[in-house]
Amino acid sequence: SKPDNSSPLLDGNAMVAKALARAGVDRMFGVVGIPVTSVATRAVAMGVRFIAFHNEQSAGYAASAYGYLTGRPGVLLTVSGPGCVHGLAGLSNAAVNAWPMVLISGSCDQKDFGRGDFQELDQIATVKPFSKFSAKPTSIKEIPNCVFQVLGHAVSGRPGGCYLDLPSDVLHETITESEAEKLLLEAESGWPQPNAIGTVGCSEIEAAVSLLRHAERPLIVFGKGAAFARAENGLRKFVESTGIPFLPTPMGKGLLPDTHELAATAARSLAIGKCDVALVVGARLNWLLHFGEPPKWSKDVKFILVDISKEEIEMRNPCLGLVGDAAKIMEMINKEIKNDPFCLGKSHPWVEAISKKSKENVSRMEAQLAKDVVPFNFLTPMRIIRDAILGVGSPAPILVSEGANTMDVGRSVLIQTEPRTRLDAGTWGTMGVGLGYCIAAAVASPGRLVVAVEGDSGFGFSAMEVETLVRYKLPVVIIVFNNGGVYGGDRRSSEEITGPYKDDPAPTSFVPDSAYHKLIEAFGGHGYLVGTPSELQSALAESFSARKPAVINVIIDPYAGSESGRMQHKN
Ligand code: ADP
Repeated sequence: SKPDNSSPLLDGNAMVAKALARAGVDRMFGVVGIPVTSVATRAVAMGVRFIAFHNEQSAGYAASAYGYLTGRPGVLLTVSGPGCVHGLAGLSNAAVNAWPMVLISGSCDQKDFGRGDFQELDQIATVKPFSKFSAKPTSIKEIPNCVFQVLGHAVSGRPGGCYLDLPSDVLHETITESEAEKLLLEAESGWPQPNAIGTVGCSEIEAAVSLLRHAERPLIVFGKGAAFARAENGLRKFVESTGIPFLPTPMGKGLLPDTHELAATAARSLAIGKCDVALVVGARLNWLLHFGEPPKWSKDVKFILVDISKEEIEMRNPCLGLVGDAAKIMEMINKEIKNDPFCLGKSHPWVEAISKKSKENVSRMEAQLAKDVVPFNFLTPMRIIRDAILGVGSPAPILVSEGANTMDVGRSVLIQTEPRTRLDAGTWGTMGVGLGYCIAAAVASPGRLVVAVEGDSGFGFSAMEVETLVRYKLPVVIIVFNNGGVYGGDRRSSEEITGPYKDDPAPTSFVPDSAYHKLIEAFGGHGYLVGTPSELQSALAESFSARKPAVINVIIDPYAGSESGRMQHKN
């Protein structure tokens, strides 16, 4: 557009930054470079906090987790071509976990596309499998509308990933401020709002409550969709008024405290194997829940599914499906129950059976945990970490967990008492998420302690981001379970160690006793090397109270874990 003397000009970079800030974006994650550096600096000038990473993969994982933790789209900014491809890691992770996120990538000049321009790629086609909605402004005037559309689509219906493509020529166009303002107002008024209500009606709620009321062995299962919906109050009211035992999925842990007397976590096999009616709230009947099928579940179990996604419910074909927001539906269910209350009570045979089994399993585990095994197995350090985390009190630290054995053992030993305090490999079993998730958690809840408990392999994916922790002074303590490899040690049988490269290290192994704690010291952070209970206790006490970036390198016996954690059947 022609310059106009009465109103100052702004370019495409400033237009993008302005639209993002106006749409409520307050944090961005990414890696800058041609052509998007100025998008980042302009955004900072608009009051957006930009967290600059070393690697788009890790920044993308951060953006996806930020979306989950805050309920607002996490935004990842990358350069074109390879930057966009690295960013796909985060976008796909958001898509699979149903978390709101927007990937924004610069792209090559529109007129040079197709003749080998710098970092050229058809990015709209590339992101397609992982994007709910993609937009590409072809002129500066389309920027505000595109920005508002991608952000709106990321949170509407089932949350997920969206994509915004920014051609470099569009970023270099200019427009007058007055015209920009007009376009921003138009974009704001046409913004798709998140679905306020589902399609569920009173008769469906009555039917759900009637099924639960007449069940002999009812169970409620909830997952990270319920956590995303902030359904904790409704869930607590439901469990406490009906006395129905509950089972959280790994990331549903903490919606109700793991220590609650109706928690069936330690009696999981019994609870899912024997329940006759299961109310499943914001959790998919996918591999994590054994597809809702025998032999883990009884073949006669009646499922009542609560999900924001109609397609999800239709695919699972449950006895009853309630489409809508988990918090709202729990409120409707609680209201219906209040009209004619029922409660199983402690002496109900089902409640008693679950409680008995839980107590047995817990005391068996406690006996294992009570031993101080040195060199460390997984259990001894996990117990010490559990107690240190519990000692922090409220607000409870946000826990990030990944790795095979480390994540498996951590899931059963570590105790979650508050909602949305556990981030792990999730639906996709994504490894390498740890550092990104830690940074997202620290940025989403300023001041709150973040603790990662991860394997050396998970840590290694993006260990360079310890510099990012130090640079932004984030209160993150990374505990590395260092067993010298993926699953730990060289597990090959003697028949397998043959051929010309037999003297190479095993594909599962890393340098034994690597000094991971020194990586963070290179940037001025605090590193600890520990191998005994007292060393671990003092490193935790010091780093938790300092609330400064730290890495605790915990040396674990390389033969303590098992291959694939507890997923050998998939290997
Ligand atoms: P988990 O891994 O904890 O089992 P999943 O990611 O498999 O959880 O399932 C979460 C489900 O929650 C998804 O099917 C998603 O559509 C759904 N969901 C997302 N937001 C909401 C919401 N606000 N209310 C109800 N369900 C939701």
